[in-house]
Amino acid sequence: MLRRTKIVATLGPASDDKETLCDMINAGLDVARLNFSHGDAADHIRRADLLRSAAESCGREVGIMGDLQGPKIRIRRFKEHSVSLVDGERFFLDSTLDLMDGDQDGVGVALDSLHEDVSPGDILLLNDGMITLEIVSIDGTRIHTTVINGGILSDHKGINLKGGGLSAPALTEIDKQNIRLAAEMNLDFLAVSFVRNGEDVEEARRLLKEAGGNGLIVAKVERVEAVENINSIIEASDVIMVARGDLGVEIGYAELIGIQKKLIRKTRKAHKIVITATQMMESMIQNPIPTRAEVSDVSNAVIDGTDAVMLSGETAMGAYPAGTIAAMAEVCVGAEKFPQPISQTSHRMQDHFGLVDEAIAMATMYTANHMSVKAIIALTESGSTTRWMSRIRSDIPIYAFTPYVSTSRRVAMYRGVYPVQFEIDGENPRSLYRDIVDTLLANKLVEEGDFALLTKGELNGVSGSTNSMSVIKITSSS
Ligand code: PGA
Ligand code: MN
Repeated sequence: MLRRTKIVATLGPASDDKETLCDMINAGLDVARLNFSHGDAADHIRRADLLRSAAESCGREVGIMGDLQGPKIRIRRFKEHSVSLVDGERFFLDSTLDLMDGDQDGVGVALDSLHEDVSPGDILLLNDGMITLEIVSIDGTRIHTTVINGGILSDHKGINLKGGGLSAPALTEIDKQNIRLAAEMNLDFLAVSFVRNGEDVEEARRLLKEAGGNGLIVAKVERVEAVENINSIIEASDVIMVARGDLGVEIGYAELIGIQKKLIRKTRKAHKIVITATQMMESMIQNPIPTRAEVSDVSNAVIDGTDAVMLSGETAMGAYPAGTIAAMAEVCVGAEKFPQPISQTSHRMQDHFGLVDEAIAMATMYTANHMSVKAIIALTESGSTTRWMSRIRSDIPIYAFTPYVSTSRRVAMYRGVYPVQFEIDGENPRSLYRDIVDTLLANKLVEEGDFALLTKGELNGVSGSTNSMSVIKITSSS
């Protein structure tokens, strides 16, 4: 059984050699994430080159996603690199404190306006919520707090305000540089961190375009404001990431999974792509097998209908980068065996379709799910027909036959869609059918006697021109 849910994995020191990358690709990696919060341009370029060469030796198209660091607010440094905060003691944050001058009493913070954005009584969460500080008073730039939950606090750890509301705009100067880098590197996806609304997403898209990039834009939902403005964000994006790390800190973890389910449903309904991210297999950073809770978490995201599940530290710095992907892939396939009636679509029976290719895609899915069909083939330039198709539940594989590598790497993220490199020869329709069937047979995707559905445009070579569906019976050429 083919796995339909896709796997995104973050590259890092644990996956920095070609052999490991090949193992990861063979285990099921579909899209690799470069985290622009760590490393410099040279590191990202080197990792992308290594990944592309590994994918080529494995004969697979793997997408690459650059992930902007965004305005993550961080503390500065400690003289001794870390301190141990004790419950009930005082601790201050001050944006004017020298870069490395932190100690037991307080530390610098890399947001000049922080003291203006907070008030006494507010809760600050540090190091992904491991440390909690309550603000007692504000004196100029100095924010005095009481330690509610202490622990070890080390250099550069992140800060979140419980309930959200920090004013930092989504794109920093470093992000703008990295957008240009993403364009130069020809990345397939650009993830934008801490977006507040649709305008933040549009701004990133405009900058990427200006720099000559054409990757799909991924909006990371990780702020309270983003959840409030979710409709405009989905509309402005190609892909939504449920970024549970920061989101779980800001809104509190108790409501996180309810929000995850809502985001997945809303995104699919808007015919966009959705990734579920962070701590999905966290214990596999150290352990060779996942916990039952992690298995349950991944399974539930799959059952909810996510396009992709994502790994972070597990593959960037864990002990089992390929093993984690293999375990995740296995869990996805296991969960896909149990489609939930509640999330079955009604084929959008009441909808009016605005576009010709959308209408053809829907007709194809209706047909596919109501007769014995082994494969759906879409001759596609941009991949958009397969995106419409993949929003409808089905257990039939959708093959995106495309001449464009960039399209192959894009649809690598779409649930149930598999790229197949194919030169479209529109001159001779008879040999076109033969070529398609031969490609399917050569890749062992169908057998003689099977039925398959094919969508294509009469005018091949024009993007968005899909206007026909045909039923084909597989015959061998000899
Ligand atoms: P990050 O984003 O890993 O870049 O922080 C994902 C998240 O917050 O969940
Ligand atoms: Mn984050």
